[in-house]
Amino acid sequence: MTQSPASAILAVTDADVQAAAQRLAGIAHRTPVMTSTTVNRLTQSEVFFKCENFQRTGAFKFRGAYNALAQLSVEARERGVIAFSSGNHAQALALAGQLLKAPTTIVMPDDAPHVKLEATRSYGAEVVLYDRATQSREAVAQQLATERGLTLIPPFDYPPVIAGQGTVAKELLEEVGTLDLLLVCCGGGGLLSGCAIATRAHAPQCRIIGVEPKQADDATRSFYSRTLQVIDNPKTVADGARTTSLGQYTFPLILHYVDDMVTVSEAAILRSMFFLWERLKVVVEPTGALATAALLEGIVRSPSQRVGVILSGGNVDLAQAGKLFSQMQKTPKVRSPLPWTWELS
Ligand SMILES: *Cc1c(COP(=O)(O)O)cnc(C)c1O
Repeated sequence: MTQSPASAILAVTDADVQAAAQRLAGIAHRTPVMTSTTVNRLTQSEVFFKCENFQRTGAFKFRGAYNALAQLSVEARERGVIAFSSGNHAQALALAGQLLKAPTTIVMPDDAPHVKLEATRSYGAEVVLYDRATQSREAVAQQLATERGLTLIPPFDYPPVIAGQGTVAKELLEEVGTLDLLLVCCGGGGLLSGCAIATRAHAPQCRIIGVEPKQADDATRSFYSRTLQVIDNPKTVADGARTTSLGQYTFPLILHYVDDMVTVSEAAILRSMFFLWERLKVVVEPTGALATAALLEGIVRSPSQRVGVILSGGNVDLAQAGKLFSQMQKTPKVRSPLPWTWELS
């Protein structure tokens, strides 16, 4: 599949982000911004971490989901909404549906972790299971949507969702003032494109860099080739970035507003996740550590600059995190600004 970026439409503007911020005021948390003298010393820059792991439902996804539901007609909301997701979008949409009185149906694989099923149900959503081997989640969701008159809310490739995610960068800039560099993780590109729109409008000189796992580098390759690249079944510990490609809205926005894309290794993601837990006492999930990894591993350098880093979420199974950490061994420093480095054993 290819797409001509030159003719593509930029579907979301900063005015949409501003309008989203008004809808979210008093409903989404204004998440804290954290700093660390250790990080500043190691990177020789001034770093501001925007902590969306403290957002409602544990990730920024609540912003986009709520902004999307809030714009549906009363009738559409009463009929209900549907999404397919086993991740943070499911819980975000379930909570938004509860708050806006929209019955929510979530289509999940029948082998999804029990904790995720329970968390989604606890926000009042109806969970419909499908068999990964024999059914496609799109087909299951589409059939339910048609039968029940439900509105499908996509996790990233949907203008109201993109605008909602952009409020993360808007808040960060309001809180800390202008930035020289902003690092944002990238899966399907909803967070990155939304944040890039807001940043370009309010900090025009700021470099905006998207970060993705090396093992799921479709967006980076799409960015450089200016042709949409697809990875069928990306295998990375960063489950929030296991999307197969950017979308028809996010791709042109990223080409237009983002300055560069970089990738980080699986080991780098885990090292940075461990660092954030241990040093900043901030519980992030692997995907939530992607942007930090680009900085701490020296992939993006920023001497004497003011750097924003988005910690996108903190939903991680503690037992699984323990297993991941126990696979790491201390080895001598290679080429990282960290005083040590771990390799996967
Ligand atoms: C969904 C998600 C991402 C990726 O967001 P996109 O908008 O798909 O790029 C990153 N981190 C976390 C925690 C997520 O839930």
